[in-house]
This record gives sequence, C-alpha cells and structure tokens, in this order.
Amino acid sequence: MRYLIFAANWKMNIAPREAREYARAFLAAAGDLPEDRVVWFFPPAVSIEAVAQSIGGRENLLVGAQDIYWEPKGAFTGAISGQLAAQAGARAALIGHSERRHVFGETDEQTAKKVAAALAANLHPVLCVGETLAQREAGQTMDVVTRQLEAALAGHAGQARMTIAYEPVWAIGTGRNATPKDAADVHSAIRAWLMPRTGWMPILYGGSVNLKNVAELLAEPELDGVLVGGASLDPQAWAELVRTAVA
Ligand code: PEP
Repeated sequence: MRYLIFAANWKMNIAPREAREYARAFLAAAGDLPEDRVVWFFPPAVSIEAVAQSIGGRENLLVGAQDIYWEPKGAFTGAISGQLAAQAGARAALIGHSERRHVFGETDEQTAKKVAAALAANLHPVLCVGETLAQREAGQTMDVVTRQLEAALAGHAGQARMTIAYEPVWAIGTGRNATPKDAADVHSAIRAWLMPRTGWMPILYGGSVNLKNVAELLAEPELDGVLVGGASLDPQAWAELVRTAVA
C-alpha cells in the first residue's frame, strides 16, 4: 500500500487554547481517516503539548516541533531542545525549513547539528531542502538540494529514520506551486541521491499546496505526501484536504 503523509506547518499561528479547539474541529471533520494516510501537526512550540493531549494516542496522528536547538539543555535563552519538545509530546521535528534558513540565517552546518540532535532525542527529523528562484533560474536546483542533503545527512549513512521535504523557496507562501512534473523530477533526483547513501525515505513536497492542486500533485507516485502551511490553518479545510486528496 502507498502511505501518504500530510504534514501541517502552522508556523507562528495557533496558540494553545486555539490549538485545542482546532484539534476538536479537525477530529470531528476528519472522521475515520483511510488507513493509507497519516497526519503530522507542527504547531508553534507553546502549543505542542495542547495538540499532543488533544490528539491522544491515535496511531495516524502525530505532533512535532517546527525547530529545535542542537544542545540538549542549558543557557540558551529562547531555544528549545529536542528533549524538551519530546517531553511536551513531540515525536518529530522540522529541520532547516526555508524560513529558518532565509529569515533566521540558519546554515547547513547548523541544520546538520539539528538533525543529529533530533535523532538523539528520538524525534523523527523532517529535513527541508529547496532552492530559491534565482538558483532555479540559474539551473542550480540539484546543486543546492544536494549540498543541503549532503551537509545534513553526512554521518547518518545507512539510516533511513528521516523524512525529506522538498520545498522550493519560491513556492512557499507565494501561491505559486511547482508543477507536478517539476516536483516529481526533483523528487526522483533526490531519491537517486539518497538510495545508495541512506536507503529509502519518504519525500514530501511543500509550497502553496491547497485543496485545488493537491490531487494532481499526489497523482505523481514520486510524492510520498505534502507539507502544507497556509492551507492547514483551518481545521475543516485541512480535514477536507486530507480526506479528499486521493481517491
Ligand atoms: C511551509 O510552511 O512549509 C509551506 C509549504 O507553506 P505554504 O503551504 O503556505 O506555501
């Protein structure tokens, strides 16, 4: 069976009380999801525990952190470690999201440390990679993506305990998504790069995915799911997207 991952990145939205209301509304609207799909929620850190408690121990639902710091604890004001996120109920962590790289200046080296820290805290890393528009137009997509993969995955050869999210920077929050063929081509190149090094791992596509374009994107067998920002913020609409994305 082909399993599909629907990952919701709430970014800096949805406080703990709203998160409980969101979870109630999502569970009611989603009903019994088909067994071929799982839903991952990435709320802001303050709402991780509220979401974890609200979704209970449901097998097909999981909560994760949007970012972690690489040290396990100590004098790092404002940061949260994998261990702290895990204790709040997180089972996964986004690493190297384009907003971390481009708004907060996160480097490949820091991303690599965060992947290692997530694994050490027993969190499933979701490593985000993707090129800017200028890099795509210069024909550098795979150079950039390969550099990001190489930096973050070096030292984890043979380990397939991760997920990759291919998110072209120019498609995030812009309403401009990659065509299904563009996405599938990059996924296939990423897969060819990964296979001899780490083995198979799921590859998600992210960048302006919504109810209208999700079915044609997931019609590409190279996509193992989607990472969605804006279109995951409304619980009913998100439940509908998950339920109806594939027949
Ligand atoms: C994201 O935040 O990872 C994302 C893909 O955002 P959006 O769906 O809003 O483009």
